[in-house]
Amino acid sequence: MTDNVQQIKERLNITDVISGYIRLQKAGVNHRALCPFHNEKTPSFMVSPSRQSWHCFGCGEGGDIFTFVEKIENIEFKDALKILAEKAGIVLQRDDPKLRSEKDHLYEICEKAAQFFTQQLNNPIINYLHNRGLNDETIDEWRLGYAPDSWDLLLLFLKRNGYKENEMERAGLILKGEKYHDRFRNRLIFPIFDANGRAVAFSGRIMNDVVPSKTEYADSGKYINSPETILYSKSRMLYGLDKAKIEIKKKDKAILVEGQMDALLPWQDGVKNIIATSGTALTEDQLIILKRLTNNLILAFDMDEAGFRATKRGVDLAQNSGFNISVLGLAEGKDPADFVKEQPKEFEKIIQSAEPIMAYYFNQILKKFDSKALEGKKFIAITLLSEIKRLPSAMERSHWIRELSLKLGVSENDLEEEMEQIELESFNSAKSIEAPIKQTDVKTRKEILSERLLALLLKTPELINQAAKTISILPPKYFELLSSFSSNQGNFSNVRMALPPHLRPYLDFLFLMADYELEKSGPDFNIGEQVESLMKEIEKEHYKELKQKISQEIKKQENAILISSSGEGFEENEKLTSLSKELQNISEKLNILSKN
Ligand SMILES: [Zn+2]
Repeated sequence: MTDNVQQIKERLNITDVISGYIRLQKAGVNHRALCPFHNEKTPSFMVSPSRQSWHCFGCGEGGDIFTFVEKIENIEFKDALKILAEKAGIVLQRDDPKLRSEKDHLYEICEKAAQFFTQQLNNPIINYLHNRGLNDETIDEWRLGYAPDSWDLLLLFLKRNGYKENEMERAGLILKGEKYHDRFRNRLIFPIFDANGRAVAFSGRIMNDVVPSKTEYADSGKYINSPETILYSKSRMLYGLDKAKIEIKKKDKAILVEGQMDALLPWQDGVKNIIATSGTALTEDQLIILKRLTNNLILAFDMDEAGFRATKRGVDLAQNSGFNISVLGLAEGKDPADFVKEQPKEFEKIIQSAEPIMAYYFNQILKKFDSKALEGKKFIAITLLSEIKRLPSAMERSHWIRELSLKLGVSENDLEEEMEQIELESFNSAKSIEAPIKQTDVKTRKEILSERLLALLLKTPELINQAAKTISILPPKYFELLSSFSSNQGNFSNVRMALPPHLRPYLDFLFLMADYELEKSGPDFNIGEQVESLMKEIEKEHYKELKQKISQEIKKQENAILISSSGEGFEENEKLTSLSKELQNISEKLNILSKN
């Protein structure tokens, strides 16, 4: 495993890998970009080719090519390893070669099929797509295609390309009747891509209303999809995720629609954080995937009764696992595709006005039942209370109880009592949908200043001696770094080798930080002065921390004296006196430091 990592790192250049995702600008010996992991207007994302590392000085993320791919693709290390191994042309040692070759084979077949379908696009189909409001760019980008009105054109095409029928069947492309035949016939084809943009399945819309068909019945289903395969599982698939994932993370919200067209048109209209669930149900697996990207979901489903019943369980599940859910207020019976076609550039605006799901519940139920009549009141109360009870936040619960009390003219107390008695369906499984906990340690001010000082000293080793006094009060980790640095005359690779392995990425980080600071500050920047002033600040922080510690100690001693019966506590008194003296000393030092 470590061999693989090393090999991959040697073969790949970090700037090539990262520029596959975001646009890098040259900045001295480094590269710079707008950070893909947080929203910013001026670039603080730095990539160092010489050290093969990256760091964002805005949000604090950083690492090597593996961490970058993990973060941007939202995948685990082992999957990042796979992607990068493939890029580097390295065969991973531990992969099961049989399964791997089977999967690879099916990826290939699906890719070939996608190519076939796009080649089959003809004028009537393209006209149909234009009429639906799609432009050529979108058709290209999403690789829309056409399955011709034939029993075996795809089958023959794949055969000519060397694939066997049983493989095509396992990829879900052909079916066995009396003999093998194409699954998709006379259908508009939407390739379905996995999170890495590889075609894994297809969804086909019948085209009988555009092209008269000899092979497909008009009533054989408006849409058909690939069956489950080793590449494709319907319950985990989110259509468009490969294109939307970065935007979802950046905007910290995902817009969920039902069908492919509902994703495509808003996407073309500029709303890029959009994905289709391919049906109204929202599954646990989909929620787990989404949880890694955002906590905020906006539903743009058709919320008529039937549609909503189908969605409800998924919505409850999402709420139980801590998602904030809003509902898009589209007119009854309108889907996002229609809406965008009729009112271009308006979709983004109505997203802003999406209402919380609870407000949506209120409106729906109050429309349907009479809140003046006793029976109506009862029904409204029970329905809404079971929704309110589901809310994880007590503050929100009390907000909606108050709202309900106003609407019904029933006291909040009575409603709360009523709510107590409602039993909710429990979702044990919801516990598994938790975002991976992020391990970012919060740095103290002293640590932040120390890092800056260290970074600058690494750039100007001749100043290390001058800073010796301050270095002695730095946290041990920094001390170790600097002493290794001065004993190796500032030679980067020697220093790096001399350090224990766990400190090496830290050195990389500091170097990049120094470049970043220097570059940001411009040519007039005086390192010497900066070092001097950082030293002073660190010293101040050091004494402030000490002061706080001693003050706490003094309190402890005072309490001890209070507790001990009179006549004793001599020792404590003595200690208290010396502590007070120490405190005074430090205060004086701080005073002097603050004056000049
Ligand atoms: Zn950032």
